Amino acid sequence: MDFSLTPEQEAFQQQVRQFIHEHLTPELSEEVEREQYAIGPLGKKFVRLMGRQGWLGIGWPKEYGGQGRGAIDQWLFLEEMALENLPTGGLTLNSAGPTLMRVGSEQQKKEYLPKILSGEIEFAIGYTEPNAGSDLASLQTRAVREGDSYVINGQKIYTSAAHHSTHIWLLARTDPKAPKHRGLSIFIVPNDHPGVTIRPLQTMGSERSNEVFFEDVRIPAANIVGEENQGWYYVTMALDFERLMPHARIRRHLEHLTGYAKNTVVDGRPLIQHPQVRIALARLAVEVEVLRLFSMRCAWMIERGQVPNAEASVFKIFMSELNEHIAAAAQNIMGAYAAVRAEDSLAPIAGRMEKLYRSFPLYKFAGGTNEVMRNIIAQRGLGMPRG
Ligand SMILES: Cc1cc2nc3c(=O)[nH]c(=O)nc-3n(C[C@H](O)[C@H](O)[C@H](O)COP(=O)(O)OP(=O)(O)OC[C@H]3O[C@@H](n4cnc5c(N)ncnc54)[C@H](O)[C@@H]3O)c2cc1C
Repeated sequence: MDFSLTPEQEAFQQQVRQFIHEHLTPELSEEVEREQYAIGPLGKKFVRLMGRQGWLGIGWPKEYGGQGRGAIDQWLFLEEMALENLPTGGLTLNSAGPTLMRVGSEQQKKEYLPKILSGEIEFAIGYTEPNAGSDLASLQTRAVREGDSYVINGQKIYTSAAHHSTHIWLLARTDPKAPKHRGLSIFIVPNDHPGVTIRPLQTMGSERSNEVFFEDVRIPAANIVGEENQGWYYVTMALDFERLMPHARIRRHLEHLTGYAKNTVVDGRPLIQHPQVRIALARLAVEVEVLRLFSMRCAWMIERGQVPNAEASVFKIFMSELNEHIAAAAQNIMGAYAAVRAEDSLAPIAGRMEKLYRSFPLYKFAGGTNEVMRNIIAQRGLGMPRG
């Protein structure tokens, strides 16, 4: 693996930094910090600005209006954005969009792709159901063909972006008699369609996710993506596009904690001079660096035309556990101050460590649980038989 960046990649990184420097306002910073998983009004404006300036299509092929850049450039872009927690178009750009390019109809490509690139269309991912998470293929939401329409009934849960997106990228059952993986299809459903109800689901970390109910939702048959009953194949394809994952957000958490230790005097000397604090921070710094290398390895593999599989799972587990390690270290280093919420004027480093402590568990679930990731590592990475 080659760790160095080419002069062109370095120049591109500078360009991204310059763009962020020009457009990141304190208000946008404050909003993205608060919203975390969602996108507020300023975040939406920012995404559209990126769309107008061509930043959303960095990795998209030129024929679809993108820049056709490689995985390392995309990774550099995501890293710089993640450092400031800025939105990047998420799964709409990195998962649903590329799937549409490959299996969508000509009409869908014309209708959706330009608007995805301009930031006007955003998908929420409607896969998980109350009784179908890790075992996703057992989902029950039904789509029944009636003439030129499909009629959808069922319920989704953890449809995170549903309250600020325009459409749902929905996985539903079209053939209940087929084996469970073979009777599923993907549909595009406008969020404001009659029969769609979106209800908030507040997480422990204060992020908003959603439950979405579908009651006799009648959509044109043309809204099916690709072929009927091929949905499982398309979902796995979409997941393969999601394997570029930045690490920089975690680096920023550690920088905040280290800054606190440098600037806070306890017993007559800054916390950073206390040996236990130094050891704890040094250990975390090593872990952050390891995470960066895991993250870069995925980008490097994609650049070479490979699909990181077990490697992406290794990153995901390490990332989610490192969030926990930093949150726990903050409790030890900051004491009771690590539990003060951002709203309180006494909250150090804007209450970030308190927030991280409430948020870290969700990283172990979102995007597939760590146990499922361990199964993937065992089977695909180590060649072990299915458990
Ligand atoms: C904050 C957040 C945002 C999310 N956003 C979205 C979204 O936008 N769209 C969407 O569709 N979904 C989303 N999800 C859902 C997420 O993908 C699921 O939570 C995840 O797949 C796990 O499913 P589950 O919650 O039903 O847990 P379950 O699958 O019921 O798992 C319960 C426990 O059993 C364990 N377990 C299950 N199967 C196995 C196995 N085979 N081997 C070992 N252990 C196992 C799990 O690891 C877990 O600890 C989100 C989840 C969260 C928390």
